[in-house]
Amino acid sequence: MKRNVLIIGAGGVAHVVAHKCAQNNALLGDIHIASRTLAKCQAIIASIGEKGSLQQPGVLRAHALDAMDVAATSRLIRETGSRIVINVGSPFLNMSVLAACIESGAAYLDTAIHEDPRKVCETPPWYANYEWKRRAACKQAGVTAVLGAGFDPGVVNAYARYALDHCFDKIESLDIIDVNAGSHGRYFATNFDPEINFREFVATVWSWENSAWKANAMFERRKEWDLPVVGKHTTYLTGHDEIHSLSQNLGIPDIRFWMGFSEHYINVFTVLKRLGLLSEQPVRTARGQEVVPLEVVKAVLPDPASLAPGYSGQTCIGDLVKGTKDGQAREVLLYNLCDHRASFEEVGSQAISYTAGVPAVAAAMLIAEGTWDIGEMANVEELDPAPFIARMNRMGLVTRIRDARGDRILDPAQDAAFAPEKRLSAAAR
Ligand code: NDP
Repeated sequence: MKRNVLIIGAGGVAHVVAHKCAQNNALLGDIHIASRTLAKCQAIIASIGEKGSLQQPGVLRAHALDAMDVAATSRLIRETGSRIVINVGSPFLNMSVLAACIESGAAYLDTAIHEDPRKVCETPPWYANYEWKRRAACKQAGVTAVLGAGFDPGVVNAYARYALDHCFDKIESLDIIDVNAGSHGRYFATNFDPEINFREFVATVWSWENSAWKANAMFERRKEWDLPVVGKHTTYLTGHDEIHSLSQNLGIPDIRFWMGFSEHYINVFTVLKRLGLLSEQPVRTARGQEVVPLEVVKAVLPDPASLAPGYSGQTCIGDLVKGTKDGQAREVLLYNLCDHRASFEEVGSQAISYTAGVPAVAAAMLIAEGTWDIGEMANVEELDPAPFIARMNRMGLVTRIRDARGDRILDPAQDAAFAPEKRLSAAAR
């Protein structure tokens, strides 16, 4: 059994990860939080104390760390005896934290694809430019590395695999839909790191159609969906991490990612972009100072974690899957609803951070108990989704399924979803 966890980063997602690790420290052991700014790690530890999140008395410690420094990171992993590293710092850190895990033998988890600060919307499949180059090294060292274990990427990858294994003989299309029907009451803010958020949308939108990469411009293709509870929402085709792995791993011909945006978001985004303020390339000011416009915009926007106290409404994120089963056309929606206020009451965070943080801890627990401790690198869809979904159901992130038979909680242990129907169709034949 692997125990003791090192959390890298002390932002919105790390806050949730730390609380959920604390709620499960009987299995996960000592919890260490390391980030650039020590005070942010200490604030998270203080909030764990205030909420009484620790399942049992245990170690909770803050560390200052520059996670770009591989030697310093692997030293901290060894000193803390950490066997699992949950990397929820900036995605610029992935390759150095992964290197430290390979060097020290700890398991690695992250929630976003690696990014090079000077490049945006990279050529597909993006994972092949970075993480997948370390596959052989992970295998040789026997290091478990689970990539993209947040909600999207993460849970939506598991839903796709679940649909393939349990709901369909053949999948024709997978539309991943991400709608935040919440309201934070600010003039403008992003729900996670603004720099990373904008970088997703400033250049080519890649999707997988007819088993090939297709390029579109941002906000070029829109679609309205009628979703459970949150209702009708307009979404736009967006490039996203999970398309880069799902397209290579599951053999589904059409995979698209749709994200909901308000008209207000699009207006502000468009103005910032047209002024050049979303550029990742440095510019020089009249005083001779070199600045990256995108970093300046991040510095003036609200910290996403600060949105949590006044946030209301829900997120709805899921996979709409179409295909055939026993020769019949079928459509299934696998999804989750997450309430901003309930997330705040439980751990002091908004729902976007909550939906990203809970899966990372569920994955860490599966590694700790051995179920997902595979000793090599994998994207989430390469692992058995059933224990992941079942564990999240018990951790506050409940999976629902909507199909021809109605809308219900998906309990993979029972798997009532399709087995009875399978028997019926066999009897009918
Ligand atoms: P934040 O910007 O709030 O937090 C990032 C943290 O990383 C900060 O605490 C920052 O430290 C720390 N950090 C940055 N550089 C370094 C460094 N060199 N060394 C050590 N620490 C560093 O981001 P979020 O919490 O919103 O997001 C965290 C991750 O989760 C991102 O990768 C994001 O893309 C991903 N994400 C994934 C989602 C999913 O569903 N899969 C959804 C939402 C986010 P400091 O504050 O001191 O600068």
